[in-house]
Amino acid sequence: MRAVHIIGAGLAGLSAAVRLASSGIPVTVYEAANQAGGRCRSYHDPILDMTIDNGNHLLLSGNQAALSYLEKIGALDRVTGPSKAEFPFVDLASGERWTLRPNDGRLPWWLFARQRRVPGTRSLDYLVLLRFLWAGPHKAIGDVLDCKGTLYERLIDPFFRAVLNTEPQKASAALAWAVLRESLAAGGRNYRPLVAQGGLSSAFVEPALRFVETHGGALALSQRLRALAFDDDHITALDFAGASVPLAKEDAVILAVPPAVAASLVPELITPVESRTIVNAHFRIPVPAGVAPITGVINGEIEWLFAFPDRLSVTISAADRLLETPREELASRIWEEVAEVADIVSPMPPWQIIRERRATFAALPQEDAKRPSAHTRWRNLVLAGDWTATGLPATIEGAVRSGNRAAELILNTSAP
Ligand SMILES: Cc1cc2nc3c(=O)[nH]c(=O)nc-3n(C[C@H](O)[C@H](O)[C@H](O)COP(=O)(O)OP(=O)(O)OC[C@H]3O[C@@H](n4cnc5c(N)ncnc54)[C@H](O)[C@@H]3O)c2cc1C
Repeated sequence: MRAVHIIGAGLAGLSAAVRLASSGIPVTVYEAANQAGGRCRSYHDPILDMTIDNGNHLLLSGNQAALSYLEKIGALDRVTGPSKAEFPFVDLASGERWTLRPNDGRLPWWLFARQRRVPGTRSLDYLVLLRFLWAGPHKAIGDVLDCKGTLYERLIDPFFRAVLNTEPQKASAALAWAVLRESLAAGGRNYRPLVAQGGLSSAFVEPALRFVETHGGALALSQRLRALAFDDDHITALDFAGASVPLAKEDAVILAVPPAVAASLVPELITPVESRTIVNAHFRIPVPAGVAPITGVINGEIEWLFAFPDRLSVTISAADRLLETPREELASRIWEEVAEVADIVSPMPPWQIIRERRATFAALPQEDAKRPSAHTRWRNLVLAGDWTATGLPATIEGAVRSGNRAAELILNTSAP
């Protein structure tokens, strides 16, 4: 029987493995790190003495591929959120607080209810979002919208900064529309926020590994692929440090590694090269009653505040400007804002700051244009990853769709 070798145990590789293993295909997943999960993983932090995630991850209830993946691996109950799409916000400049309360259905009548929409905006202001429909593939959000005004500052900028991890003005309008189409335009029931409160690994990674293993697959950690051996139209071997794995003609390979690694392994592969940082700050503190699971913050350094049972965590996207800031200075600045948002009067508790330098590819139109499809000119080599041409920005949903697609390509291609 043909075997499938999957390189990279991030969510793209794992979702491909789950899909193939459930179809009875023997898979082996090779991962360079000593832990699976890639950019979506938990670890024990010695300073906080608790298990935290490499970054706060938010899923939306309309992320169908990600939720189906969780369902298949038996982990759907590990992501939770409010029963309605509700988003509390705080404006640190004015002190105002409000909660966006979209209605469930597709017809957005919530925009006509002053108490449900962004304060200081009119219903008609939201029509500007329709401009994304006609934007086309090469435009930036700044080419399509006037990037100022209350609606922009209090909704459009924070929403797209978070989902695109790129400064919205320069970010791809097509990718913005792809997200908008499946969330805001699809009705509140499709954008209830969901969080893995018990950690990313226990939701997205460990159940997937168990699923793959119980379906006959294998995971090989600390196995960094160094090179692929090619003939005219096939991969013939995988070269790991000190070991070569020869492939039978009917075997297939899914390369689910980050773009720079893929470009170093596959001749002439064009990939996005520019990336953006995400900064997360974590504070070990019992969370006071009344702090929402997720709060949007306007006019602050911090953008989103996540409340876990035993800690408050902050996300700042497109945060390359903070790479050189000394850690202590950054932690104090962030804590000051966190204390204001959560109404806490106490000195800064134990903290940790994680700066993920290449968190995602930069969602710029010119980078989006470089994303390759899953096909390659080698008949048994398929690409996967959030940076391939999924039509979505670099998200869990995009990574899982890419893994599913790679698996389907293999399932639908008869072995030579
Ligand atoms: C801080 C942060 C916050 C985020 N927040 C969100 C969010 O709120 N919502 C959301 O939807 N998405 C979010 N994302 C994005 C999401 O995490 C990614 O889109 C997704 O995890 C990418 O999965 P992947 O499998 O494509 O890539 P990766 O996770 O990068 O997986 C690639 C794997 O390949 C391995 N590898 C590399 N080289 C080799 C080699 N030579 N041989 C073998 N293995 C190799 C790597 O170690 C890695 O495990 C966030 C990302 C970060 C970093």
